Amino acid sequence: MFNLNEDLFLMLLVLVQSVISYHLTPVFTNIYSRKTQDKQPKIIIILSLTLGFLFWLTHLLAILSVHLKYTAEQPYLYFLISYAVCSLVAFFSIRTCGIPHLSSKSYFVTGCGMSLGIVFVNFIGYAILFQDKIEVKPLLILFALLLSAAFSFSALRLLLIALEDGLLNQRRAKYYRTAGSIIGGISLAGIPYVTMTSVLDYQFADGGHDYYLIPFLFVFLLNLILTFIPDLYSHTMMNEQSERINEKEERFRSLFHHSPDGVISTDMKGVITSVNKVAAAMTQLTEKDLIGLSFLTLIKEEDHQKALFYFSEIVKGSFSENELSVSLRGKNGDSLDVLITAVRQVVNHKVVGVYGVVKDITESKKAQNRINYLAFHDELTGLPNRRYFIQKLSELKRGNQPFAILNLDFDRFKRLNDLFGHAFGDLVLVKISERLTSVLPERSILSRLGGDEFSIILLEDEMEKANETANDIVHHFRFPMKIRENDCLVTTSIGIAHFPAHSRDSEMLMKYADIAMYDVKMNGSNSYGIYKPEMNDKLIEKIRIENELRKALQYKELSVYFQPKFKENLATVIGAEALVRWKHAELGFISPATFIPIAEETGLIFELERFVLGEVASHVQAWERQNLNFGRISINISHLHLYQDDLIKTIDEILSSYQIHASSLELEITETAMMDNELEANMKLSILRSRGIEISMDDFGTGYSSLSYLQKLSIDRLKIDQSFIREMEQHNGNEAIVSMIISMANHLELKVIAEGVETKTQKDLLAKLGCLEFQGYLGGKPIPAEEFSDMYLSGSKAV
Ligand code: C2E
Ligand code: MG
Ligand code: MG
Repeated sequence: MFNLNEDLFLMLLVLVQSVISYHLTPVFTNIYSRKTQDKQPKIIIILSLTLGFLFWLTHLLAILSVHLKYTAEQPYLYFLISYAVCSLVAFFSIRTCGIPHLSSKSYFVTGCGMSLGIVFVNFIGYAILFQDKIEVKPLLILFALLLSAAFSFSALRLLLIALEDGLLNQRRAKYYRTAGSIIGGISLAGIPYVTMTSVLDYQFADGGHDYYLIPFLFVFLLNLILTFIPDLYSHTMMNEQSERINEKEERFRSLFHHSPDGVISTDMKGVITSVNKVAAAMTQLTEKDLIGLSFLTLIKEEDHQKALFYFSEIVKGSFSENELSVSLRGKNGDSLDVLITAVRQVVNHKVVGVYGVVKDITESKKAQNRINYLAFHDELTGLPNRRYFIQKLSELKRGNQPFAILNLDFDRFKRLNDLFGHAFGDLVLVKISERLTSVLPERSILSRLGGDEFSIILLEDEMEKANETANDIVHHFRFPMKIRENDCLVTTSIGIAHFPAHSRDSEMLMKYADIAMYDVKMNGSNSYGIYKPEMNDKLIEKIRIENELRKALQYKELSVYFQPKFKENLATVIGAEALVRWKHAELGFISPATFIPIAEETGLIFELERFVLGEVASHVQAWERQNLNFGRISINISHLHLYQDDLIKTIDEILSSYQIHASSLELEITETAMMDNELEANMKLSILRSRGIEISMDDFGTGYSSLSYLQKLSIDRLKIDQSFIREMEQHNGNEAIVSMIISMANHLELKVIAEGVETKTQKDLLAKLGCLEFQGYLGGKPIPAEEFSDMYLSGSKAV
């Protein structure tokens, strides 16, 4: 019956077909297990029907290859059922092998299922198809059954191993799988022949009695090999895996021990199980000491709660925070700032402990702190800066607690900076900040906002005392500071605004404090003031005056009045003070006390004083031409003008262009003007004096002057401030001061004049104290030049 030539092709086809279907089984399983759960049911049906078809085709080709005639009445129904059984076997193989870590029971059940499928398709199938050829050979049937079962289990095992842990894709595994596929496939191809031989009247090959045993022997041998393949395969894989594990372990060890960061491993309770050297060095304990300790003992107490929470979160697997920033306590009480990043140790799907990577961030934290410090502090004075101040203001605003803002401006700082340079200015600022810090209450916040702008926040209790504090500050700055051997007077003007009384808006508060500060400056500086809504109007008024003054200078709306000065009695006019007057078309006479500070602030003072100098010179020229001599005419020179480079040149030009004598002129300089730069002031004053101009120190007694200081100044006369004269009669104290000033002047061989003398009593008292020169309403008010020349033409006025 066996015809090699005719059937060889079909049998080869059976082999190839069988190898292909065997080979595809793990591939299909792999496709199936990679699909998401929702897609798996659909894909398994397609894969099972395809694989089932391949199995069935093997079976069909095997039947065709033996040329037996069917006796079954409905072979098609049989083929349909056998295709269904093949698909079922494919279904179970794919599903079972797709389950990770298959239990022994499932393995057994699937193995039996596969065996049953093979038995059904082969034994029952042949019995149905070829009923007339049935010839039961019990011993062979038993062999055939055993071989089928053995094949099923070995094939399943190989399949499982091939699929395990993705080995399918490894190169070495692929060789075994290919070998397994070929041998398993051939073995599978042999099973129909074994079955046929055992249940049908069918001889595998003609001639010889024992040829029927060939397929048995063939399948048996292949099965034997198939049984070994998984073992060989597993063995190789195991070796490879253990190599890989060793390598991994070594890598892990070197990661653990040579990590630049500390690594600590703990059990589930947080008890340390191992540490690396870096971690031991951080804690200043030995590895031995550390093992067995709770990790908490290494952390500073104040961080315990935070650390425990983090640990429990890590164990739970919830990572609300990735890192833990804590301080470790060192052995000697010092601390170390660290950042811990922890991960769970998971072995066989179970959490067994925690790894913590500990990074020493002490230095970077210090650097960070320094960056933060610099971001919020002024480098020069070390005080909080504007950014800090603004942040603090909004914080306080949110807190809704009352507080006060004090804005400070240092009246002559800009001059000092211009005169002596920025390095000197910096020293002044440092001194200012030190002085402020020493005066301020403890809980106040002092900031340098920039330049000479300082601001103070007074909180709650201190807020009530804002005026007191401001007064204290102003008072302290009335004394000069020693900077590079120079006495430096930098008086301050302070504006105060209250939260929430004046505004709830921090920007507005700052503005109001500034307005209050400007108001103080407008009223002569060196004082403090609390914001009042009217001040807004004042500021507007100030801006208006500035504009109007500009126009007044341009259109020559200013004039100069003269106030006579006398010696001993009203009969002897020894000179006059030139005082600027401004009669505004709408506002009438505006006091110099109002517009002179604005002129100084805006720089209009130079033009204004050049105008006064010119006016005085032209009158003096006219008087000299008429042979009138009213003595020296004094002109007030602002401290700003004194330091102007061209002052001497301007005066020289005026003297020469009006052809007047220097002995007709006197300059009045204030005490504080001298203090900006004593050397420069003295040098200039000496030059002017050498020309024949006299110098008086105006408003004497209101500034800071010591005897030693006065000694160094190049001046001719002290002009006692009118505030002392005014109350001389009532207050003995004032008399004493005036007397002291007079004797000081005598001692220094300086002339002395009193201003603001209004009564004869004052005049007589002054004469008694030794001051014979006087100026004031007693002698006459400031009047226009023509009136002045007419009135004093005779040069006398009886008293
Ligand atoms: P000052 O230089 O101390 O001038 C004296 C001031 O006292 C003048 O005020 C004068 O009118 C006033 N006065 C004179 N005698 C009496 C008196 O018996 N009783 C009272 N109560 N006051 C008297 P005035 O003209 O209002 O000037 C105020 C200040 O404005 C001056 O004080 C001076 O510092 C400044 N000033 C006036 N003209 C000029 C100027 O051309 N240049 C500069 N830089 N400042 C000027
Ligand atoms: Mg004066
Ligand atoms: Mg004066």
